[in-house]
Amino acid sequence: MAGTRIGVIGCAGRMGRMLVADIAATEGCVLAGGVARPGAACVGQDLGELAGVPRLGIAVGDNAERLLRDSDVAVDFTMPTATADHAKLAASLGKPIVIGTTGLSGTEEAAVRAAAEKVPVVLAANTSLGINLLLGLVEQVAQRLGPDWDIEIFEMHHKGKVDAPSGTALALGRAAAAARGVSLEEAAQRGRDGITGPRRPGAIGFAALRGGDAVGDHHVIFAGAGERLELVHRATNRAIYAKGAVRAALWLKDQPPGLYGMKEVLGL
Ligand code: NAD
Repeated sequence: MAGTRIGVIGCAGRMGRMLVADIAATEGCVLAGGVARPGAACVGQDLGELAGVPRLGIAVGDNAERLLRDSDVAVDFTMPTATADHAKLAASLGKPIVIGTTGLSGTEEAAVRAAAEKVPVVLAANTSLGINLLLGLVEQVAQRLGPDWDIEIFEMHHKGKVDAPSGTALALGRAAAAARGVSLEEAAQRGRDGITGPRRPGAIGFAALRGGDAVGDHHVIFAGAGERLELVHRATNRAIYAKGAVRAALWLKDQPPGLYGMKEVLGL
């Protein structure tokens, strides 16, 4: 069957299973395979069964190197330490890779940047169309409203999410900070507790809520004297992220080496 062979690294995760189902159902895509964490109970199981779709006749693997060799492009939604290793591996094998993992440390992000010097890489904390449009809106609003408007960002995710604030909340903060000509590192106020004193002028505040099965809500609030402007995105189905990641994979395979985001993928 002709098409782009896409490999799913982290196929047993919430996103990985969505990706398997989406790739199997998308015209122009061929599922090259999927790997789970080495030692995971699902290794050897049918990928389709794991993803909750009809059997695909492909067994879940645990060898990322073999999967990368068999793929035209790989998609990685795992965890930061593993993602940094997979980026290095993709670079050494000359394979494009779409990375959706969030919560990367400075060193892990540096490993991804180094890989992007050798192969095309998409690094996107959020692959949904709505959030990527929201990033542009936040930039515009932050530019229009002066620094006397306070910016607060809060997000809610399911109880299994391990990093906070979400990579998307940080990306929204970065968009607002860039529009104000400051770095997010200088401006960010990550969480408040106890006698914190009054709000620091120019701060960009973050709050993270966790509970239930919330797929992902993001609120960006511009609070002025006498009025508030609130921009909100609510994800109700993580299929939106899988669709965006598959679109990114199809786009990425024809690009020269470099680090890309969804802005480039979606042509925004
Ligand atoms: P999850 O915990 O359900 O899945 C992660 C999976 O990766 C687990 O099955 C884990 O066993 C597996 N894994 C860990 N190390 C591995 C390795 N070395 N090889 C293969 N598999 C390995 O989490 P999730 O909800 O699927 O999210 C995964 C990541 O994607 C998180 O960082 C999350 O924040 C991020 N995410 C990004 C987007 C986006 O749009 N970019 C959307 C949702 C989630």
